This record gives sequence, structure tokens and C-alpha cells, in this order.
Amino acid sequence: MSSGQIETATKLYFTAPDAMGASTLIPKCINTIEAQKIYHALKKPNNFVFCAMMGICAKFKQPELAQMIYSDAKKHNIMLDTKFMNLLLKVFTTCNKMDIALHLLDEMMQHGPKPDSYSFSILLSGCTEDAHRSATETVYSVLVTTGIPQNIFIKNSVIKAFVATSQLDKAIVIFDEMVRSGPTPDKYTISTLLSGCTESRLVDGERIISSINKLQIKLDDVTIRDMIIFYASCGKLKAAMDIIEDQICKGTVIDAKVFTILLNACADVRNFKLGYRLHEITDTYHNLIHKNNVIKMYCKWEMLDRAINVFNDMLIHGPEPDKYTYSSLLASCADIASEALGTYIHRVYLQRSKSSLEVDNTLIDMYAKCGEIEQAEQVFASMNEKDIVTYNALIFGYGMNRCVEKALDLLDIMQNKGIIVDAQTLAGALSACNHGIKVDQAVHIFRNMKSRYNITPNKYHYACMIDTYARAGILEKAENILEECPHPDSTMFTALLSGCRKFNDSERAKRISQKLITNDPMEASTYMLMKNVYAKQNMWKESRESTKMMSKYSVNRIPGKSSIYIRSCEADHDYGSEYNDKVHSFVVEDDSHPLVKKILEELDRQRSILERQGYIADTTCVMKELKDDEAKKEHLWRHSEKLALGLGLILGAAGTPLTITKNLRFCSDCHEVARLVSKYENRAIKIRDASSWHKFKHGVCSCGENY
Ligand SMILES: [Zn+2]
Ligand SMILES: [Zn+2]
Repeated sequence: MSSGQIETATKLYFTAPDAMGASTLIPKCINTIEAQKIYHALKKPNNFVFCAMMGICAKFKQPELAQMIYSDAKKHNIMLDTKFMNLLLKVFTTCNKMDIALHLLDEMMQHGPKPDSYSFSILLSGCTEDAHRSATETVYSVLVTTGIPQNIFIKNSVIKAFVATSQLDKAIVIFDEMVRSGPTPDKYTISTLLSGCTESRLVDGERIISSINKLQIKLDDVTIRDMIIFYASCGKLKAAMDIIEDQICKGTVIDAKVFTILLNACADVRNFKLGYRLHEITDTYHNLIHKNNVIKMYCKWEMLDRAINVFNDMLIHGPEPDKYTYSSLLASCADIASEALGTYIHRVYLQRSKSSLEVDNTLIDMYAKCGEIEQAEQVFASMNEKDIVTYNALIFGYGMNRCVEKALDLLDIMQNKGIIVDAQTLAGALSACNHGIKVDQAVHIFRNMKSRYNITPNKYHYACMIDTYARAGILEKAENILEECPHPDSTMFTALLSGCRKFNDSERAKRISQKLITNDPMEASTYMLMKNVYAKQNMWKESRESTKMMSKYSVNRIPGKSSIYIRSCEADHDYGSEYNDKVHSFVVEDDSHPLVKKILEELDRQRSILERQGYIADTTCVMKELKDDEAKKEHLWRHSEKLALGLGLILGAAGTPLTITKNLRFCSDCHEVARLVSKYENRAIKIRDASSWHKFKHGVCSCGENY
């Protein structure tokens, strides 16, 4: 019936309502109000009308209306059949009201109409989450007592419900019964079971897969996809890959979801061989999602040259990059602080893409992390649309680049414009105060958070405050804030311990450490810091105790890692082009780099030049028990940031700037060396550590020696 015909028929119906007309018109209603008008116009609705109304309740998920229709039907003494009851069950299962559905099942079992196999499959389809565990068991046990023949359709519904409610053991028992005495499992059985098998269920999953041949189950693309996803999610990437290779030989087109899962898995476990092969295969697909995943994988591996190659290829052969492509590349440029690459991506984005708020926000973050705060400001100014993320990115950027006043000004601007400040904004402002050690401003923000912004301080805010006090040497106030914090975490304790180390307060350090160890014995950084507090004061016995505690709780320290990116256009060396356009990463005393011998020679050379000019190594930075001063000095010159600096000096052309990023804070000796080298070698050196930028030029650091 066309909509015009329905309209005419409805008008006609209201002149003389009859059950036949109602049961025809109700299913065609586009909402429950119209259906109810038709329903209420009728004096004596019959079974068909009730069924039609129940269908409407199921379609529009109206459990209350369904209850009403159900009691109406009982009032009219209608003989309710199973078809009607199934519709009623459907309403409650789709509305996640399993308790009512189970109550109805109970009623049906006692007073009829008797449930049929369809009733059970409806009930089972409602068991979709862990909260329905006992419901699934109840439905299944009732099903068994009814003696209804359990065909493959019902069996699959039971298995699906058990898998969905995290009761894989029970699902597998049913599968084994099916293998033994039928009905023979089919591709749906296999797919459902595999979707429930994760890493801890590898053995079960493999057993299910091995039964496929024995049972001569015909697989389709979906089942094959589920097999690959199962292997990938269990970390069996090789097995997943073998299936893919096999399918490619057969000319099957592989599902896009499979590549996404596999590429992400390869990226996580750094399986280069499979990753390269997947890149090769996906290249033939010409699919934007694949390209973005390949780029993401290379970015994760810090192989920015490969990521850029994929990007450049997209620019020539398509598909056109989208906001995800730009965002992941820009985030990688931010990680390694490569302003040059970031600028290149930015330029292409401006030329080829329509503006995206998300990409613009990433651009601000990228420029800030590259230490180019003016560029970040320019992007900010050019944006037509801004959201809270935009403001927060710039506030954090100001903090990182030590533009404390600008960060606080922006906070004022936001308030004047009526932009609602969030917890993140205040975290940015507090972290800016922290970088500049602006105690008064930080206290002002922190103490007015609740009254002025209606924001309850979170852990980050407390941690910032404690760190600010600790770095300013106001250790008592830092300790007070720690006491004030409802749930202090290890970062706050460690911030205070760092302060104790810096200002030689070993008594306080001892007290704080004891508190932390009671709270969180697994926290590695506590032992490290305690060790450092003691080491700095030559309390080696106590320092050794901390080491023992570390091994007792088998805690490992997070290794400091420094990275440097060597661009070919700034390189000048004879070691081969394979070192260019690459990210080189180092840990302390790292000897894995192929050029390590040359790096150490260069560092020795630098050291003797600096020593001749009066440089004295700051051995209080040594966090390791070593036999004498010379050993300590040797160790200092193997810090990861110095190794990165050494590589930069031998690969980068004279006078070109060097940019190093570090995941933790760097020590005062590395700071001093970078400062002196910038002067002696007459080149800019930029180091971004965990919290902010240090830009060295002609022997002066942008931080004003605040670190
Ligand atoms: Zn250092
Ligand atoms: Zn500095």
C-alpha cells in the first residue's frame, strides 16, 4: 500500500472500525501513537489485533505499552497463542528486561501456551552480557526439560548466549556434545566459538579450528575472517598470516577488518617481517583505512621515513589522505620533535585538505612539542572553529615552552569569552606554573578551583602543586598537600622525593618513602629515588638497601630513552645514507648502535675539550654505586642523551641544529654539557625532556637554568 492508500484506508477505518481493518493497518503505523488510536477505536479486538499491536511494541521497543496490551488481552479473555507470547518475549528481550521475559517463560510453562523452539531462541538472543549469566542457564535448563528437538539453529543460539555471557566452558561442552552426537556444528558454530576464544583460550580455539576438517564444515569468508582474528588476538600472527597467504593464492578478497587487526597487532609486538609483508599486500588494495594503519604502524616503530613514503605515494597515486592520516603523522613528528617534517605535512594539509578541527588541534600540539610556540600560536589564530581541546593544547604548549604568563593570560581570555574551563585546562595552567616554578600563581589557581571553576582537584592537579612546591624547595608545604590529597599516588610521592633529593632532606625522604612503600610496594620509582637521595649524600649502605628492596619486589625501573632524528638534508658524513631520515634511540650505556665506537670517540673528544675549558662533571647526578670519581664520570658520559648528542655531532653537518627528545627528565650534568657544546660547537641544541623544552644557543639555555 502506498502512503496515500494507507491514509484513505485509515479514514475509512475510523468511519466503522473493525478487527480486520485494525490488524491490517496497525503494522503499517509509523509510530505507536497512531497504532494506539486505531487500537482504541475498536470495541472488540481479536487475537490478530493483539498480535499486530505486540509487533508494534517490539518494533518501537515499548515494554510498558506491551504490558498494557497483554493485560487487555487477558481481560478480553482472548486465547493467547505462542505466536503472541513470542512477540511479547521479543519486546522484553530487546528492551533488556530479561527478568520479565523469564517470568513470562515461567507462566507459559505452567499455564500455557507452551513455548516452542522460537520462544527459546528469542530468549537466548536476549542474553548478551555478563549480567545475563544466570538467565542463560535458566533458559537452557528449561529448554532441556521441554524435550523440544534441539536442531542446529537452537544449538547455535545456546552457544551464542553462553559465549556472550562469558561462559565459554559451557559453550564448549555443548560443542563437544554436538561433535559426538549431532547436530553437526556448522560455520556459525565455529565463528561464534572463536569469537569467545581469546589468548587464555588458545588451546580451545585451536581444537575448534582443527575440528573443521574432520567435520567437513564448509567455510565462508566470514568464518575465515574470524579464524584470522582469533589467531591475531592470541598473538599467533604467523598462523593468521598463513591463512591470509593461502586465501590470497585462492584469489579471495580479504576483509578490511582483518588487516586493521593484524597491522595493529604487528605494530604492537614489533613484528617487522610480517608488518612489511602486510604493507606489501595491502598496497594492492588501494584502501584508505589500510594506508592509515600502515602509516600508524611505521609511526609506532619510529620509522618515520617509511611512514612518509607511504604518505607521499598516497599524494601521487591516491587514496587522498584524510584527517587520520594527517593526525597520526603529525603526532609522530611531535614525538621526535621534527619541526621540518611537521611543517611539510602541515603544508600539504593546507594545500589539499579541507580544514579539520582535529588536525588543527594536532598541529598546535605538534608545533608546541617541536618547541615552535609561535607557529602553534599562528595555527591557533588561523582557526575559524575552536573547541576546548584547542585552548588546552595551546595552554599546555605555553607551559612546555615556559611561556607561563601567556598560559595564564589565555586562561583569563577563556573566562572573559565565557568558555567553560575544564579540569584539563587548569592542569595545563598549573603545569605552566610548575615549569616556571611560579608558586604564588599555582597556589592561587589551586585554591580557587572549586569556588571559581567548580572543578574538584584531581590527581594531576595535586601532583602539579606538590611538584611546584618541591622544586621551589618548599618541602613542608609540598608534604602538607600530599597529606591533603584524598588518594595520593606514587607520582606525588616521587615528586616530593625528587625535591628531597635536590635539597638534601634525607630525613623527610625516609618518612615519605616509608609511607609510599606501605601504600604501593610495587612502585619502582620510589626505590630509585630513595637510592638517589642516599647516593647523593654518599649513604651507600642505605642506597644498597633500596636496591635490595627493588629486587625483593622485583620492580624494574623505567629506562630513560633519548632519541634523535637525522634528516638527510642536514647530514654530512661518510657512514652511508642508511643513517639518514631515521630516528635513532639510545638507553643509558647503550652499545647497540652500529656507530657506537665513533659516538664514544666523539664524546671523549668533547669531554677533553670541555674539561680544558674548566668543565667539571657533576657526579652527584650519578645514580649508581661506582668505585671512584673517574668511574662516575665515565658513567655520566654514557647517559642516553649524551649518546644521542654524540651521534648528532658526527652525522649532522657543522652548524646545523640538533634536536633530542627524552622520555624522562634529564640530569644537570647533561644540561651543562649541552649548554657548553652549544657554545663551543656554535650550534643550536634543543632537548625536550618529559616536561619541557631546553633550547641551548651560544651557551645559554631558554630555561634560565630552572630544571
Ligand atoms: Zn644525564
Ligand atoms: Zn635548560
